[in-house]
Amino acid sequence: MKKTALVTGASRGIGRAVARRLAREGYAVCVNYIEHRDMAESLCAEILAQGGQALPFQADVADPAAVRAMVRTVEEVFGSVTLLVNNAGVAGQALIQDVDDRMWQRYFAVNVGGMRNTVQAVLPPMIREKSGCIINISSIWGLRGASFEAAYSSTKHAIVGLTRSLAMELAPSGIRVNCVAPGVIDTDMVKVLGEETLKELAEQTPLGRLGRPEDIAEAVAFLAGEGASFITGQVLTVDGGFSG
Ligand code: NAP
Repeated sequence: MKKTALVTGASRGIGRAVARRLAREGYAVCVNYIEHRDMAESLCAEILAQGGQALPFQADVADPAAVRAMVRTVEEVFGSVTLLVNNAGVAGQALIQDVDDRMWQRYFAVNVGGMRNTVQAVLPPMIREKSGCIINISSIWGLRGASFEAAYSSTKHAIVGLTRSLAMELAPSGIRVNCVAPGVIDTDMVKVLGEETLKELAEQTPLGRLGRPEDIAEAVAFLAGEGASFITGQVLTVDGGFSG
């Protein structure tokens, strides 16, 4: 069967590792990005050089029309999306008093609204085929609270609720929906915390290191695979033991 994956936010970090891993599994991959065209193109070139199929596509996941256009193009080039990995996300730290409307709305529009937009766009053929897989990237901060990250943490909690609800709604259509909750993963997103804090976070992690994007890619590949065919509505935490 033809396998096509759409990975949002795949130009850098976790999404990049996920797209690379799925290409190795034989998926034709849409590498979505918002700004870093060069990074998306270099990943696609790498996948192509290894005999895989990849297509870079710029779209703000918060923009439903842009998402629909992206999915239409993917369908024309590769065929229907069989695996959706909702990874694109924005994060930042602020005291709750300093969380203004712009920040609050943008975090929800990208982190949660983006998932609604992609799901709505890829669903019709999945429902027709009675087959499909959706994997949402939440966070350990979607399972517990995080000081100075109320906005981000709220969106990540919402993703867990969205995952569980969609899993119930879409199971009769043969579509599985699961979630991965990463711990602290060494990407651009956490570099803002500074080296000292990252060193402390690594020390607080029972396995003694920060996560790598590839650690999350392995979890996604597992949940997407045949071995997970009876798993839906679950949250798989990948955090080196950080959250106990
Ligand atoms: P990152 O290094 O900051 O990369 C973010 C990716 O998302 C980039 O590819 C970026 O594209 C893309 N992106 C951002 N806004 C977008 C939008 N509106 N539309 C489309 N693409 C957009 O982040 P990361 O650390 O890999 O995180 C990926 C996901 O894992 C996020 O959902 C994050 O919340 C979650 N997560 C991360 C950690 C961690 O410790 N790193 C922990 C838990 C959960 P451009 O390159 O074009 O900017």
